[in-house]
Amino acid sequence: MFGVFGQLKGKLVVSCQASPGEPLDSADAICRMSLAALSGGAAGLRINSAEHIRILRMHADVPIIGIHKQYGRAGLHITPDFASAAALAAAGASVIALDCTDRVWPDGDPWQVLITRIHEELHLPVMADVATFDEAQAAVDAGADCVGTTLNGYTDRTRHNKSFNWTLLLQMVARLGVPVIAEGHISTPEEALRALNCGAWCVVVGSAITRPGLIAGGFVRAMESQTLITPAIGIDIGGTSIKGALVLRNGEIHFPAQAPTHAIGGRDAILGGVLNVTERVLMAARNEGLEPAGLGIATAGAVDHSNGSIFAATDNLPGWAGFPLRTVAENHFRLPCFVINDAHAAVLSEQRFGIGSGLSDFVAITIGTGIGGGIVSAGKLLLGQHGFAGTIGHSVIRTDGLPCNCGRSGCLEAYVSTAGLIREYRRLGGVVPQGVSDDASIALKINQLACGGDDAAQAAYKVLSVYLAESIANLFNILDPQAVLVSGGLIEGYARFITDVEQQVQQRLHFADKRQPQLRAASAGKYAGVQGAATLVFESGRS
Ligand SMILES: [Zn+2]
Repeated sequence: MFGVFGQLKGKLVVSCQASPGEPLDSADAICRMSLAALSGGAAGLRINSAEHIRILRMHADVPIIGIHKQYGRAGLHITPDFASAAALAAAGASVIALDCTDRVWPDGDPWQVLITRIHEELHLPVMADVATFDEAQAAVDAGADCVGTTLNGYTDRTRHNKSFNWTLLLQMVARLGVPVIAEGHISTPEEALRALNCGAWCVVVGSAITRPGLIAGGFVRAMESQTLITPAIGIDIGGTSIKGALVLRNGEIHFPAQAPTHAIGGRDAILGGVLNVTERVLMAARNEGLEPAGLGIATAGAVDHSNGSIFAATDNLPGWAGFPLRTVAENHFRLPCFVINDAHAAVLSEQRFGIGSGLSDFVAITIGTGIGGGIVSAGKLLLGQHGFAGTIGHSVIRTDGLPCNCGRSGCLEAYVSTAGLIREYRRLGGVVPQGVSDDASIALKINQLACGGDDAAQAAYKVLSVYLAESIANLFNILDPQAVLVSGGLIEGYARFITDVEQQVQQRLHFADKRQPQLRAASAGKYAGVQGAATLVFESGRS
C-alpha cells in the first residue's frame, strides 16, 4: 500500500481546475486557489497538467492526484498516454489518475498498459476514474490502486445520472478490495460526509469549491426562480363574504378560504373576518413551505392610495370608512400590505391574467347588483385622486331618469344591473318564476330564459343593451380605448347581449366605421378580486 493513501483517509481532496478560457485558467490562479483550499483543511489536491503541479510543488507537499486532460476527437480524455503520465510524475504528482472506462480512444494508450507502466517505470500508484462498477472491477483486476466514481454521469451509458450515484459507491466499497474515492457531483458538506459514511476512502470536491462562475450561477438561478414562484396572498372583502387565497405569479389559486363578512358588526367584525381568512391561507401556505411576499387586499369602497386606508364606503360596510386597513394588516402579519378597491382589483386581474392581457388601453365593466369598473390607460390602472376613477356605474345616461343610490338620477347602474333587468323583464310582460326570491337568482333565471329563446327575457336584454351602449359610446369618445371588456353573471351565457351592445355602440360612435369599437366578454371569475389584489404585491417588487 502506498503511504499517500494513508494521508488521505477520511479527508477532503480539492480538485482545482479551470476550463480553457475561463478567467481563472492560469497557473497562478490555480496555485492560489489550491493553497486557499489547503488553508481550509483540505488534505490533498487533484490538479490538471504538469505545469500547474510543478508550480504548486514549490509551495505545498500534500498528496497531489495528477491528471492530464486532453480534448481529442472522441471527447475529453483523462491522462491518455504514458508520456503525459510521465510528465505528471516528473512535476511531482503523488498519484496518477486515468480514464479507465470502457470507451475506445483511438489516440491513446490502452489504460491496462498504462497502469503497468506507471507502476513499473514511474513507481506511482494509479487512480482509476470510472463510470460503472464493471469498469471499476476491470481496473482493479488490471492493478489499479484505487478507484474513483469520477466519470459516472459523464459517459454515454451513464449520462442520465445528474447527481452523485450512491448505489455505485456502496457497490464499489462492498466488492472491491481497494480504496474507493467519491468524486463527481459532490456539492455540499452533507454529501461529503454521507460519502464517508458510505465507506468512501476520501472525497474529492471540485466545482462546488473552486468554480466561482458555477457557484454564482447557482445563486442567480435560485434567486430568479424564487422571484418567479414567490406567491402572494390575495384577500377580497365583499358585502357578503371575505375570500382569500394564495396566488402564484401565473394567477393560480391555492388554499382558498372564505368567511362571511358580518358587516352588521361594524369594522371590528369585518376586520375579524379579514384576519381569520388571511391567517388560514397563511398557515396553509407555510405548511407547504411557501412564504408569501406580501398581502394584497381588495375591498368595496374607495381606497386612499397614499396610506391604504378606506376613504369612503357605503352602508354595505358600516364603519369601514376611515379605517387604516393597510397599517393594521401590516402590523398584524408583518408582511408588506397593499389595499385596492375591489372593482379595480378585478381590472388588474383581467389585465394580468385575463383577456385584457396584451392591451395597453381598455375599460373593464362588471355588471351585477351595481356596476364595477376600471380604466387602464397606457398600461396603468387609473385610480384618481380619491380612488374613485372608473366609477362608470354612476355616469348619467338619462337626465331626470331613475333615482340612484349615489343621489343623482339616471345613472347607468340604475338601468343596467340585476334590478334593472328584472324591472324591464316585468315591464315587457315577463313573469318572475315561482320559488325564486332574491334579485340575483331572479336575474339568473331571466338570463337562462333569454338563452332559451324567451321573448320577454330577450327583449329585456335588448333594452339594457341600448342603455349600456350609450355609456360605452361615451367611454370610447372620452378614452378611445382598444377595447371595452364586459363581465358579470348577468351577461355570462347570453353571448348575444355583447353583440347587440357592440352594434349599438357602432351606431352611436363618431367615426365608428373607422374606429370599429371592440367589445369583449370577460369572465372575471370568483377570484378576480383575490388575484388582482395579489398582483399589487407582484408589481411592488418591480418599482
Ligand atoms: Zn349613481
